[in-house]
Amino acid sequence: MLRRVFGYESFRAGQAEIIEHVIGGGDALVLMPTGGGKSLCYQIPALVRPGTGVVVSPLIALMQDQVDALRALGVRADFINSTQDPDQRRTVEALFVAGELDLLYLAPERLRLPATRELLDRGKISLFAIDEAHCVAQWGHDFRPDYLELSMLRERWPEVPRVALTATATPATHKEITERLGLADARHFVASFDRPNIQYRIVPKKDPRRQLLELLRTEHAGDAGIVYCLSRSSVEQTAQFLVANGITALPYHAGLDPAVRAENQARFLREDGLVMVATIAFGMGIDKPDVRFVAHLDLPKSVEGYYQETGRAGRDGLSSTAWLAYGLQDVVQLRKMIDTSPGDVAHRRRQTSHLDAMLALCESVECRRAGLLAYFGQSSNGPCGNCDTCLQPPRTWDGTVAAQKVLSAVLRLARERRQKFGAGHIIDILLGRSTPKVTQHQHQTLTVFGVGTELNESQWRAVIRQLLAQGLVAVEGEHGTLVLTDASADVLRGQRTVRLRHDPERERPARQPRGAGRAQPAGDGARRPVAAADLSEEAAALFERLRAWRAGVAKEQGLPAYVIFHDSTLREVASRHPTTLAELGTISGVGETKLNRYGEQVLAVVAG
Ligand code: ADP
Ligand code: ZN
Repeated sequence: MLRRVFGYESFRAGQAEIIEHVIGGGDALVLMPTGGGKSLCYQIPALVRPGTGVVVSPLIALMQDQVDALRALGVRADFINSTQDPDQRRTVEALFVAGELDLLYLAPERLRLPATRELLDRGKISLFAIDEAHCVAQWGHDFRPDYLELSMLRERWPEVPRVALTATATPATHKEITERLGLADARHFVASFDRPNIQYRIVPKKDPRRQLLELLRTEHAGDAGIVYCLSRSSVEQTAQFLVANGITALPYHAGLDPAVRAENQARFLREDGLVMVATIAFGMGIDKPDVRFVAHLDLPKSVEGYYQETGRAGRDGLSSTAWLAYGLQDVVQLRKMIDTSPGDVAHRRRQTSHLDAMLALCESVECRRAGLLAYFGQSSNGPCGNCDTCLQPPRTWDGTVAAQKVLSAVLRLARERRQKFGAGHIIDILLGRSTPKVTQHQHQTLTVFGVGTELNESQWRAVIRQLLAQGLVAVEGEHGTLVLTDASADVLRGQRTVRLRHDPERERPARQPRGAGRAQPAGDGARRPVAAADLSEEAAALFERLRAWRAGVAKEQGLPAYVIFHDSTLREVASRHPTTLAELGTISGVGETKLNRYGEQVLAVVAG
């Protein structure tokens, strides 16, 4: 099945074992990172076992694409959801009952309807696949009440194997999925969460849109990618900014008209090299394999969220970038959001610990990947060599005196004047600036006025940002004023030293994907799309011709380009230069159906 239908040579780590277990009729809980290859873990068993595999998925807007991708492989797939009219639905139902479907996609709310349950009783079910299984976890970031109903699958169809799959796998979520879906007796498969082809980079935020533009121009010209922003307005402005600078970018957030949103999503999936600027409302279930970068212009609220979002890059295994710009203002803003959020104390405490973990990752001087894996309870084999801290190890310095200056400014304002101020004003005081605010409050008479001229403004911002991350100072209230914490006293008394990291002067570390070791071609090599980066001149030209051919076919058939062939497949065609169908058929991603459908055309493009 792997070779014939999907055209792949070998299983990825974990797949064979899971597939064998499910084919044998066992229940399974599969924890695998985004891009790890979860779909095959239920698609192949559904093809092998008699009957139809029923896939429960929350992603109604993507079902059509998922089904199209399977049909392009010659798999008999369909879906039932609220976007269909009764006629279309009846047709699919009839196919299911007649045993003519390999896979049937359903939204979880469908299963609540007695009519759906009765329908399922009339056909033969080979397995239930519960996709995005973390949606059942109450405190996860994607909770869907309808998922709670899925515990009934086992009661109603005890003989049908169930496989639940997710890419969110902190120990807490894992436990909750197990309990709520009744999977204590299932086999649990926990894959490595490492994504070696993704280069993680976290940079100090200065002029975020300019920094982003620089990244796109120097490293990702012509590549598809996702840019995450915290607010709708910043999504709109960033998209406009990119467009004004000649980059094809589209906005996506919950406030847009549903038709516009759907259109933008469809264009992102269908066209090559588009940049989607979005809130986190975008992305779940987007399985576009050639997303070359994920950029965050604002700090994510948790490491789970960050890992899911960045995981959308590079599902095809080619080198990709996860880039995050983060600054003092992010910390102030997110703390404020938590302070004013609805919900009980326990909820706020949970949000705070999520944020603290994210901050610790940002300020770490150690390998980012090792930090991420440790967060998911997994170990790594030493530093990865493909993250910013590995490529450009940050220098640290003794920031105790600087910390004391900040803290004593906060302390004096509180003690002597009963006042609180935000970071900006504290920095003005340390730098001895006679701003109108300083004059108004006569802050030039404070003993700390002008004691910090050894650092400049951006260095002070970096100091305060790190003190916040380390919990040595806190922000409160609507204006984000600085206040001392329990831990501040030790620093002020000189009983605790404070290590800080120097922000790197140069933002861009040399790109050294693990195991690659090939040099970029000289000249304009860097401006090529990443997928073509290390091809010979000739092969790169062929790769472009193949992409142009693919774009035409995609348009004609109304399919996303990657459903025809992945970049990684075209790349291999370009470098191997096949001249016969048999030869073409050995290339990864060229299965029987695609060989029959597109083989001759591809050979014609190769022949020029
Ligand atoms: P996930 O659902 O875990 O995020 P997918 O199932 O979408 O990942 O798979 C990610 C990509 O890897 C897909 O494009 C898929 O076609 C490809 N893939 C999966 N398994 C294999 C394999 N054994 N060999 C080659 N490519 C694979
Ligand atoms: Zn590293």
